[in-house]
Amino acid sequence: MRLNAVARDWDVVVAGAGVAGTVIAYRLARHGVRVLLAEKAAWPRDKACGGCLNAATLRALDQAGLGAVRHLGRPYSQLALASGRRRATLPLPEGRAISRRQLDAWLVRQAIQAGVAFLDSTQVVLRPVDSQAGRRRILLRQGQTQRSISARLVIGGDGLGSRLLREEAPGELQVAEGSRIGVGTTFDEAPAFYTAGRIHMACAASGYVGLVRVESDRLNIGAALDPGWIKRCGGPAAAVQGVLRQTGFPCWNALGEADWHGTPQLTRRRTRLGSERVLILGDAAGYVEPFTGEGMGWAVAGAAALEPLALEGISAWRPALVERWNARHARVVRARQRGCHGVAAVLRRPRLLQATLPWLDAVPASVAPLTAWLDRDYPCHRREAQ
Ligand SMILES: Cc1cc2nc3c(=O)[nH]c(=O)nc-3n(C[C@H](O)[C@H](O)[C@H](O)COP(=O)(O)OP(=O)(O)OC[C@H]3O[C@@H](n4cnc5c(N)ncnc54)[C@H](O)[C@@H]3O)c2cc1C
Repeated sequence: MRLNAVARDWDVVVAGAGVAGTVIAYRLARHGVRVLLAEKAAWPRDKACGGCLNAATLRALDQAGLGAVRHLGRPYSQLALASGRRRATLPLPEGRAISRRQLDAWLVRQAIQAGVAFLDSTQVVLRPVDSQAGRRRILLRQGQTQRSISARLVIGGDGLGSRLLREEAPGELQVAEGSRIGVGTTFDEAPAFYTAGRIHMACAASGYVGLVRVESDRLNIGAALDPGWIKRCGGPAAAVQGVLRQTGFPCWNALGEADWHGTPQLTRRRTRLGSERVLILGDAAGYVEPFTGEGMGWAVAGAAALEPLALEGISAWRPALVERWNARHARVVRARQRGCHGVAAVLRRPRLLQATLPWLDAVPASVAPLTAWLDRDYPCHRREAQ
């Protein structure tokens, strides 16, 4: 869609076509809401991510009406965990591994079919509220071209690097000390060691690397690494190779030639999830290191939890909606993030992990309580709405 053909007034403008932005755009369009979804990157885009939709996330997508996602990518049901020279193979509830290029492009297609207008290569910039009209002004930037539009509500699904509210609420996004950064890429060919159906996870003191087969047998890599380690190694490829070597996982030449994508520091928290006629969702609302592979689940569950509040905000905005969203997000998403924090803290102690791995390998069923806990259903948004 060309920028100068875009309508001036919308019910909702969603910034960012990641999992959070596309799912909320899709859900709202199904209520008959006029939604514009604007994405800064040229589409389709790659993103540093493990690409694993775990079983709980798949059920959350079923609930959102997006269960056909199960036809994409490849199934997995095992985790091959390694630290030092110790290894354990553990059972997992069946999930689906899909590259983010394919997953996000599919989600955008579902949103468009539901009636969402989609613009790529377009950055959303917030402008002041027009109080008389009861609308938020927005500037859309597409290269050198700009267009001013307005919406009753803006939803910020603009990811970890979220800058939507940086002028209105500068100090409200706090990055945790010692936070790692994410890197990732996908390969057409890789060693046969990395078999389909299994997430391979190499853990070291400097971070961890996850490898999984996705669609067309491609190998997806997502890693969370200390920024100092990446610097010392001279870049993401060497840093990933360093971690793989420490665990005896094979490296291959193309690792050094790949186009790596990165993220800002991962673990962060936003104290206030909105501003006047703006609500923030997904990674932009806060995130923790991705070891448990739940980030997309938090984004989907967050979108479901936000849906009734967004509908309310479109018909009659009240400042209290931001506080209600904060409280609901804490129940649905932040509570789960605390668990992930705990698991990530254990992984930061390689000796503890190495001591545990032989035992886990001998008694894989011992991990069942943890996987069951991670696999619990997200609260249904209807119940949360009460
Ligand atoms: C290394 C790594 C591995 C991971 N592995 C997994 C995993 O296996 N399973 C899992 O569930 N989760 C995983 N995650 C987490 C997952 O990637 C995120 O939680 C998820 O992508 C969050 O989705 P989102 O929509 O909030 O943000 P994003 O997917 O980051 O989307 C945000 C979008 O907003 C766009 N944008 C930014 N600013 C603007 C603007 N002003 N205007 C318009 N568009 C804008 C960006 O270009 C981007 O496309 C992993 C993360 C990392 C870093």
